[in-house]
Amino acid sequence: MLQKTQTQNLTGTHINYYHICQRKLWLFHHGITMEAESVLVQLGRLMHEESYQRDQKEIPAFEGIKLDRITSDNVIHEVKKSNKLEDAHVWQLKYYLYVLKKQGIWPLSGRLEYPKLRKTLDITLNAEDEKEIGRIICAINDFLKQPQPPKIKKMKICRKCAYFEYCWA
Ligand code: SF4
Repeated sequence: MLQKTQTQNLTGTHINYYHICQRKLWLFHHGITMEAESVLVQLGRLMHEESYQRDQKEIPAFEGIKLDRITSDNVIHEVKKSNKLEDAHVWQLKYYLYVLKKQGIWPLSGRLEYPKLRKTLDITLNAEDEKEIGRIICAINDFLKQPQPPKIKKMKICRKCAYFEYCWA
């Protein structure tokens, strides 16, 4: 029997979407994916591929997390194109640190990188964060049991969301 705080079947994207829009989280989890059609998502991928070629060590995805890169100073780097959803990015990266710590891969810290903005943000994981991530995992596991997605909620971010056509057409 799965414990509620288990991360099985959850990914960094779940944690990210939880902080952006719960409808988006539900659609993504249930395999309704529009990501391939989004120019913004394609741009994000391109930046991952082209902006940080040096000093790079590819890490295979595991435990639902896919790291952009890790450097020899034990820093996990996560590249994003805009900092408009910074809170979601921070928790996604903290989740990566949380999963790796649970696997005994520690000490580590994180760095959010916004190459277009020439901005970086250093991220750590403390005991309070771990408690909060446990709470978030429980909330997501409960939420995803709902048979239907939550109703559409008009937000500023909808226009740039990969599900815009799906929600608003
Ligand atoms: S378009 Fe808006 S309501 Fe629909 S999933 Fe995206 S953010 Fe959520």
